[in-house]
Amino acid sequence: MCPPYRYAMRTNIEFDQIDEQGPQDYAAAFEVPLADFLREELAGVGPVTVEVHAEQGGSEGEYSVEGRVRFTADYTCSRCVEPYPIANDSTFHVLFRPRPAGLGEMEEVEITHEGELDVEFYSERSIPLRDLAIEQVQLSIPMKPLCEDKCLGLCTTCGANRNREQCACGESVVDDRWGALQDIRVQLAKKKDI
Ligand SMILES: [Zn+2]
Ligand SMILES: [Zn+2]
Repeated sequence: MCPPYRYAMRTNIEFDQIDEQGPQDYAAAFEVPLADFLREELAGVGPVTVEVHAEQGGSEGEYSVEGRVRFTADYTCSRCVEPYPIANDSTFHVLFRPRPAGLGEMEEVEITHEGELDVEFYSERSIPLRDLAIEQVQLSIPMKPLCEDKCLGLCTTCGANRNREQCACGESVVDDRWGALQDIRVQLAKKKDI
């Protein structure tokens, strides 16, 4: 293992260095402000640790980056809107390929998935580990986080957290629904009669 001070110096994956010196290993930790993620599902995030192994890929100008990302965070439950803590430890494998000629910098690139692989196009031959780390955090945040599968969510009438308290609204809501259903049945029955 390399001594830690070397990691501090190397915050970018340098493709030129890989061409000259062979596969490279990197490790770094980043404090990323919550606002940088632009995700409502994220209520808080700790330092993001990323470790990668980068080497030339199978085709011209391609680089293969395998890595591991670890962080702790608070996700906001999509049902009860309460934050809950998570610890993420996941691996990833990205193939970086040269951006095809004619494809503008700001143009949307269709990212293809080849099995477990992500393919990304680069125009700079230096990839900031911080960007890679943020991207992996983004990918691991679920679209609809749940504090638990059985989360009961909020009462739609009074807003009470139904995991913690049982409000009095429940029964009347059910009654209303039955009432509405009853009305529909009556309407249908009338139609049949005509
Ligand atoms: Zn919940
Ligand atoms: Zn209620």
